[in-house]
Amino acid sequence: MLFQNSLGFAQRLDAEDSLAHFRDEFHLLEDKIYLCGNSLGLQPKAARAAVEQEFADWQKYGVEAHFEGKNPWFHYHKFLTEKTASVVGALPHEVVVMNNLTTNLHLLMVSFYRPTSSRYKIIMEGRAFPSDQYAMETQVRHHGLNPDDCIVELYPREGEHTLRTEDIMAAILEHGERVALVMMGGINYFTGQAFDMKLITAAAHSIGAYAGFDLAHAAGNLVLQLHQWDVDFACWCSYKYLNSGPGGTSGVFIHDRNAKDTSIPRFGGWWGHDEGSRFQMLKGFKPTPSAEGWQLSNAQVFPMAIHNASLEIFERAGMQNLRSKSEKLTGFLEFLLEEGNTKMEFEIITPKNIRERGCQLSLLYKENGRAAFDRLLQNNILADWREPNVIRMGPTPLYNTFVEMWQTAEAMKD
Ligand SMILES: *Cc1c(COP(=O)(O)O)cnc(C)c1O
Repeated sequence: MLFQNSLGFAQRLDAEDSLAHFRDEFHLLEDKIYLCGNSLGLQPKAARAAVEQEFADWQKYGVEAHFEGKNPWFHYHKFLTEKTASVVGALPHEVVVMNNLTTNLHLLMVSFYRPTSSRYKIIMEGRAFPSDQYAMETQVRHHGLNPDDCIVELYPREGEHTLRTEDIMAAILEHGERVALVMMGGINYFTGQAFDMKLITAAAHSIGAYAGFDLAHAAGNLVLQLHQWDVDFACWCSYKYLNSGPGGTSGVFIHDRNAKDTSIPRFGGWWGHDEGSRFQMLKGFKPTPSAEGWQLSNAQVFPMAIHNASLEIFERAGMQNLRSKSEKLTGFLEFLLEEGNTKMEFEIITPKNIRERGCQLSLLYKENGRAAFDRLLQNNILADWREPNVIRMGPTPLYNTFVEMWQTAEAMKD
């Protein structure tokens, strides 16, 4: 698309935007342009009523709300299943919502990282989000192994900021049969680079390794096809692009062939036990033959109520439509920022190719990045500062406008 650097052009794009009305479904910050949807999505107005419904049922029914409530708590997690499956391109029995992201990462590693004397390596991106680094490191130590021997971190080439797909492929093949697991982000939180999950999964499978993804920055951002891509497992949080509130619950994907395989080792809890015999409370863990077989605890109704209300918006908007707008919105911001960057104060390190990014742009400053960030703040624009010198902007198609992109770029010029 050919963009123009004018307020009128931005206004025209907003007028033509068929998703523009979704902005009214969010509590926007007073007088602020919010570009932090990649950290904590804004509050959907429907969230409060969804939680209040559960408060009301708790008040009215006590424990009996598990069966008598408007949305019976006994299988509350199931209210989220279809919508979750459609957001990540999965079959319903391949997904479950439970716990928090890092907890789920560990639970999935228990099942899908079982090193042997000959196959013990994990391939991951260098400078992954710290929680992922710590999860890999401590999982390796948990098996009595040394992270230096087991974890292969991939770094960009000298002078480059993002990984080349060909280099990821080459590393997977190079380490070959020693690799137990290829574990990547769907999108790197720092650079905004989106990885080719289909290719990476195929490469991992070609050497007999599992392929898993942390989709914290990809869920609700990219059009995902986890089932078709043959991904083994994935997990994500719900509070970034999925707008489900601070510390919100997490989603899990386990591919059909793994989800149904009750012989796969795991850590068990009563909610993962076969539903038909769960309340016989007998000895002997018998996992549900689906992603639900990884559940530990009964449903976290309150965070799930918020998440359900938010997923309902995604269901109405449609991931394809959101992505189409998102490509335009981010493309427009990129165009405007580049136009204003006449003194080359920063470099956008997020890939230019839209297939290699989501909505986020990361601006790397040579110097004075913090001053530029403060200038944005003074102009009531909330972006995100990452040490040592990066500004991240995550415009989201549900509640950001093209005019906001123009205003942001204008503020950068001051
Ligand atoms: C945001 C994020 C997390 C956060 O994990 P929590 O368990 O939800 O606190 C983990 N990994 C990645 C890649 C993230 O972007």
